[in-house]
Parts: sequence; structure tokens; C-alpha cells
Amino acid sequence: MCGIIGYVGPTGTDVTTILLDGLARLEYRGYDSAGIAVLTTAGRLELHRRAGKLANLVTMLKNGSRPAPGTLGIGHTRWATHGRPDDTNAHPHPDCTGLLTVVHNGIVENYAELRQELMLAGHTFRSETDTEVLSHLIESYYFGEAQHDLEMSVRLALRRITGSYAIAVVSQEHPDLLIGARCNGPLIVGLGEHEQFLASDIPAILKHTRRIIILDEGEIAALRPDSVSITTLDGIVVKREPIVVDWDAEAAEKGGYPHFVLKEIYEQPQALRRALLGRIRDGQLHLAELTRMQQEGLLNNIQRIIIVACGTSYHAGLIAKYAIEQWARIPVEAVTAAEFRYSDPIVGPETLCIAVTQSGETADTLVGIRQAREHGAPVISITNVVASAITRLSDAVLYLQAGPEIGVVATKTFVTSVSVLSMLGLYLGQLRGRIPAAPMGEFLSALERLPDQIQHILDKASHSDDAIEPLAQHMAHSQSMMFIGRGVGYPTALEGALKLKEISYIHAEGFPAGELKHGSIALLDPETPLIAIATASHVYEKVVSNMQEVRARDARVIAIASEGDEGIRRHADDVLYVPATLEVFSPLLAIIPLQLFAYHTAVARGCNVDQPRNLAKSVTVE
Ligand code: GLU
Repeated sequence: MCGIIGYVGPTGTDVTTILLDGLARLEYRGYDSAGIAVLTTAGRLELHRRAGKLANLVTMLKNGSRPAPGTLGIGHTRWATHGRPDDTNAHPHPDCTGLLTVVHNGIVENYAELRQELMLAGHTFRSETDTEVLSHLIESYYFGEAQHDLEMSVRLALRRITGSYAIAVVSQEHPDLLIGARCNGPLIVGLGEHEQFLASDIPAILKHTRRIIILDEGEIAALRPDSVSITTLDGIVVKREPIVVDWDAEAAEKGGYPHFVLKEIYEQPQALRRALLGRIRDGQLHLAELTRMQQEGLLNNIQRIIIVACGTSYHAGLIAKYAIEQWARIPVEAVTAAEFRYSDPIVGPETLCIAVTQSGETADTLVGIRQAREHGAPVISITNVVASAITRLSDAVLYLQAGPEIGVVATKTFVTSVSVLSMLGLYLGQLRGRIPAAPMGEFLSALERLPDQIQHILDKASHSDDAIEPLAQHMAHSQSMMFIGRGVGYPTALEGALKLKEISYIHAEGFPAGELKHGSIALLDPETPLIAIATASHVYEKVVSNMQEVRARDARVIAIASEGDEGIRRHADDVLYVPATLEVFSPLLAIIPLQLFAYHTAVARGCNVDQPRNLAKSVTVE
């Protein structure tokens, strides 16, 4: 869950700046504490750690002793799983000698037994973390009778571990050696000129290099200024060519916006264009990524589809259920991954499983999908991160192409997930011969119009007379808000409520509009605003009836409606308009004012929108 950065290069490098700079770009991954270890040119391994945000560590280094230039270093931003988020539990964690130190992302599940064993063998533990057993285990092999070299000691230590990890290890005795390893935690190697980098995620090192090697599960990388060698835990040498990423460093910065979240909301037209790029050409749908599955017959006998996802990706899955069922006439179930995996799911070769995970590292989704595969289910994954863990569990991968998403809350990965799932639905519909050419053309051109339509909403929202920001400021004192919708409007309501909860900390709930009167309407009072997704649809009249029920209880009603619908004003106190589109694509437009509403509400309440409390971007623990 945390962020890891590592560097090895020539003598006299300002390693501290490289590490702090990288951590600043990884802080969205965890911000309970931050720490660095730098091996200075004088040969001293200096450790600095601080609870809280990275800024606390930066201030401490400014006021105290900043490490001198050196050759080697590792850094970490923590999202605690074992032990409080305080200075002592902050990474890096040294061994007893202080000569080697470790940063870790993940969980050592068998840490209690190992800790006991190591303490009996005379090791002294200083923190409450599970991570510290790694430092002492490596120490036990490195300084033990057999005197293994550092790389072998790391390998032997990792063989004893169960759980998930991405780690980086350095030793004072090896000023030109940085070791990294991963198993169910992301870790990449960045190749430079006479210098090499390790990081949890690409933005951390984009400033220095675009040549990246993605480590696979159970691999160890030994980085030296002029070489990188990769081996498996069993010591087998791995040859892997680097990939060149085309994200520019600027894209990973805020680009003039006050927050990443706002920048990413405004990047949605562009992100969506990229997601459609090459997939809709000359009025035809091309999902080349699925050709192999199709040729192998994996899609021929599909009787059922299960979409496995968490959070915002789950909401995208709920929307896709409507689209896929409508077009392909295959029953679709969207399930949250953490429930799916423990439900003893009934899946087999005739059940297509679709995993949706923006990071590609969501632990619950990975475990669920692994289980589905074991039962012979074909798997298509939808993710934003190239070569992430989910891709290795999939028969085919559809990338979101949304570019880096730094804000913890998902925005552009939501619209790209919905649109990629929609294209998948159209593809399956076509494959089954259920969509004649004319409606297909209509669906595709509606999809192609969406980026401009989103741009139109955003341009309007930038005008000083736009209603969203003042409305958000007015509502910012609310204790609770409700969101309702029907059909695809229902998951849109869920996603709108989730955005508000995540960044403004206002209690919010989404309901199917018709369900309200069966209980939850009791929550409504004049202090509880209700947002109704009332865009044009076959259930529009029904939603309007539900709005009337609510207004009769004196609740303030805000409607999200299609442009041109003047009549809706009679049933709502405020109306936020979006352009008209096909009903099945309406969530892609209706969500934009809801994202902006959540953003402005959070800003009005003084919340940290880029790093909401208790949340981290990719949830790599179960
Ligand atoms: N389990 C480790 C800890 O609690 C690492 C957590 C992380 O990934 O930041 O310190």
C-alpha cells in the first residue's frame, strides 16, 4: 500500500533530494509516516524517519542534519498495517547492527512466529511492525555462520515469508548495491545512465528516466550503477527487456491546478479520448486485445458474466451490467471482490470474469480472480497500470489509458472504466450477432461524442456564474446527503455519494429511487439534501415521482438533468444540466457535476482532497 523509492548511482549524488522528490509523487500511496536511509560518501548509513505526512520529514531534515551526498538510498511513505503510525514504526527498519535497513510495502502474515524465533535467537526488536522481521531475518543469513552475500540473504529471508511484499534493502557494506524484490506488491526498476532507481510506481522516477523494467512476482533485482540483474527467489536468472513509458513528468504534476483531483476531473475528456483511441475506427469497433481469446474460442460459450471489483470500479461494473445485458443478452452480476472471494462462487469455463481495478494491484480483486481462474473461468481485466499484477492473471487486458491518477479518489479511471466496459459489452453483443450495423454505428458515435460533451460540462463549470461551486459551498455544512437514481442512474447515485463521502467526509448514501419509500425516506428532513439523477431515460417519470415524494417531506432536492428539460425545475430546488446522450452512457456525463460538487464541498470544508483521511490509492492489503 505504501510508496517505495530507491536509488544507486555515482559518488557525491544528492540522494536525499532524489528520494524526497520521489516520495512526494508517491505520497498518495500512504501518508502515515515517511522515512529515508542514505549511504553517504563517507560510508555512513544515515536513517531519518518521521510520523505523519512527508512534510514533517522534510521539515525535520531542514532543521536538523540532512544527510551528506552519497551513492545509495531508500525511502518510504507508510500506510500502517501493523503498529501505530509513529516515528518508531516508520520505515526504513534497520537490523540489530544498524548496517542494513529495509523498506517494505505489504504484510508479513507469519511475522508473529518469525519474531518469536528471531527474539529467541537474540535479535532485539525496536518497532511493532511486521516489517522488522525482514530486517532481522536478512541479518541472520548475512551475518550468520554461512556468511551469505546480501542478495542471497534477502532471497533466503523472503523464502521464509508468507504474505505480500515489495521491499528495498541497502547495506552500509555495499555502497553500490540496491536490492529490490516483490510478491503481490508493485515494484519497478528505472534504468538511468550510471544510476538506477526502484519505485512502487512510475511517477516517482519519471523525472529521471522512462526506461522501466516491471518486476514479476517472486523476483529479486540487484541494482548497481551500471547494471541490473534479475533473478527469481530460486536463483534462476531472468532476462527482461525494459519498456519505455510515454507518460511525461508534467502529466504526473498538478499542472497549475490547486489539487490533483481537480486536475484529473478536468483531464477526463482527454483520458476518455485516449481510451477510445484505436478502438473505434471508421465507425467500427476494434478490440484487438480480445482477438486471441476469440480465436481460442474462449468467448463462444459464455453463459454468464461476473464483474469483480471494489469501490468506484465496482460502481463502473454495476453500470456495465445494464449495458452488457442490453447488448449481449448475457446475464451479468457485478460483485465486490472481498465478498466474491469468500462466497464459494459458482464459476467455470462458461463464466466470463471481468476484473476492474485501476491500479491492477487491488488485493481482494487479485485473490478473487485467482480463484475464478482455478475454476477454469476465462478472465478479462480492465486496468490503468501496464503490466500490473492483474494482467498476469488475465487472458486479455483492456487498458484504461487514462494516464497517471494521483488523487486518491478515482475520477478519470471511473469514466474510462465505464467506457471500456461499454465497448466490451458492444463487442460481446456483436460477437453474438445481437447488434445490427445501424444501432452499432449509433452507439459508437454516441461514445465518440462523450469527450466533447464532458468538455462542455467542464467549460461551463469554469464560468464564474456556474451553479456547482456556490451550491457546494451552501451545502458544505450538511451532516448527511442522499443520492437517488433508477437504472444506470442508481450506480451513478452510488458513485456520487462515494465521491462526497471520500473527500468531504459528509455522510452520504445512494439508493435506488424506488426503494426510498421502503424505509430510508425516514431519514429525510429539511436539513438533508437529496440529489436525484434525473437525466433522460425510460424511467425518467418514475424518478420525478420519487423526487415529488421527497419534496413533500421538505427536503431540498437537487436534480442532475438533461439539457433542455425545463420541466424538471418544477420538481427541484436546483438543477445541474448535462448534455443529452443515450441512456446507457448517461452516467459518464451525470457523474461530472457530482465529482465537481464533491470537490467544491470538500474544499469549502477545508478537507485535504488529494489525500483524504484513512484512504490510500491502491488497496494492496486484503
Ligand atoms: N506492514 C508494514 C507496516 O505496517 C508496511 C505497510 C505499508 O505497506 O506501508 O509497517
